[in-house]
Amino acid sequence: MSEASKIAPAVRDVSLRSLRPSRGEAEEAVRALLRWAGDDPSREGLRDTPQRVARAFEDWFSGYTVDPEAFLLRTFEEVEGYDDMIVLRDIRFESHCEHHLAPIIGRAHVGYLPTNKVVGISKLARVVEAYARRLQVQEKLNAQIAHCIQNVLEPKGVAVVIEGAHQCMTTRGVHKHGVTMVTSTLLGEFRNNPLTRREFLSVIGNPAVQNGA
Ligand SMILES: [Zn+2]
Repeated sequence: MSEASKIAPAVRDVSLRSLRPSRGEAEEAVRALLRWAGDDPSREGLRDTPQRVARAFEDWFSGYTVDPEAFLLRTFEEVEGYDDMIVLRDIRFESHCEHHLAPIIGRAHVGYLPTNKVVGISKLARVVEAYARRLQVQEKLNAQIAHCIQNVLEPKGVAVVIEGAHQCMTTRGVHKHGVTMVTSTLLGEFRNNPLTRREFLSVIGNPAVQNGA
């Protein structure tokens, strides 16, 4: 892979980073939201809230400062000819919906069919986390994870299934509890070969079937 494509999107977007407000401006914006909610930001319980929220944002949205592709650059080729699918299931993630800033809590299942190189299994979880810790819609999160793995490892196929509970649905609006959204991105063999797809779905416990699809 070329040097240029190793550069993190966050670093590439120089214009975006230079537009980044100061910490003080971010805290002031939180004070405005507290007033908008109907409270008094100067009362004791809320006095440090803007700082805490700014710090929480650094944590929740830390994915903008990392390059997910970089996690996949260190690969292993001595796998004794192993060429069956590799699946990491039940990768728990916390993300935030880009429409309401509400949490999306879920699990991702990631599989790929290696050609001649594999990555350390924890790296797949790192990729999930890097994209989850950004403002997201589930479909985009799903596609980004799959395409990142496809682009860097160039395997015979990639499958990513995500089950997510969206708190913008459970705590506001339609107030639907216990609803899980299931999305999937299937590339290469997982898309073209029904047997491969079926094997993957069976390994991850077939969430789409459980949800009545
Ligand atoms: Zn939302």
